[in-house]
Amino acid sequence: NLSAEGYRRRHEITVTGDEVPLPLTSFEATGFPAEILREVHNAGFSSPTPIQAQSWPIALQSRDIVAIAKTGSGKTLGYLIPGFMHIKKCRNDPRLGPTVLVLSPTRELATQIQDEAVKFGKSSRISCTCLYGGAPKGPQLKELDRGTDIVVATPGRLNDILEMRRVSLNQVSYLVLDEADRMLDMGFEPQIRKIVKEVPARRQTLMFTATWPKEVRKIAADLLVNPVQVNIGNVD
Ligand code: ADP
Ligand code: MG
Repeated sequence: NLSAEGYRRRHEITVTGDEVPLPLTSFEATGFPAEILREVHNAGFSSPTPIQAQSWPIALQSRDIVAIAKTGSGKTLGYLIPGFMHIKKCRNDPRLGPTVLVLSPTRELATQIQDEAVKFGKSSRISCTCLYGGAPKGPQLKELDRGTDIVVATPGRLNDILEMRRVSLNQVSYLVLDEADRMLDMGFEPQIRKIVKEVPARRQTLMFTATWPKEVRKIAADLLVNPVQVNIGNVD
């Protein structure tokens, strides 16, 4: 497919892995349901960003991904929309715990992800709960008790709540490590490893990062299975 190959070249997309699907260069090509297409249209987006175009078809094949792309490239929807599709396919009871878990380094970023999940997932009846430190646990626990499809959390607060046995991760089958490089810089590696021990091994794992230093490579090698690597531009 020449035009998809040309798209990769123009947008400096490089991929490593077996039989990597070609990028989906339009929203229509994704096969996303009408309610999702309506939301991206309402948001005023004209086409997928390069990281979305290349990550979506890989994520939709239920494969593990490492995506390396700079800030502002649209990584959030890169993992959220396939996460919505995953939730619909699993049809888990949200009262038994989340199906999708997103780990994020800070309260600000976690809230931004939550806002995006609510905005784009509402019409698909996807629910999302955000857990972060520096705020009382009460309202967060109350929200968890109502049931949730997605949890977006900072590692410290999620571990506190896990120790209280107020959330179960045994339904999680789609795990996202967002801003993995920043989480490691902030010293969250032990917390992340502790959380991942509570997530079933049979899962899809997606890692998003702006840089690719050896600490990030190491945790990717430990937590992901035969991942497809996607790079946008010459980030290293
Ligand atoms: P990153 O996580 O890579 O830093 P974000 O996911 O936060 O980037 O996206 C940056 C901004 O781009 C957000 O405001 C988001 O709503 C917007 N955005 C996401 N996808 C698209 C798209 N396909 N077209 C236009 N804007 C988009
Ligand atoms: Mg981001």
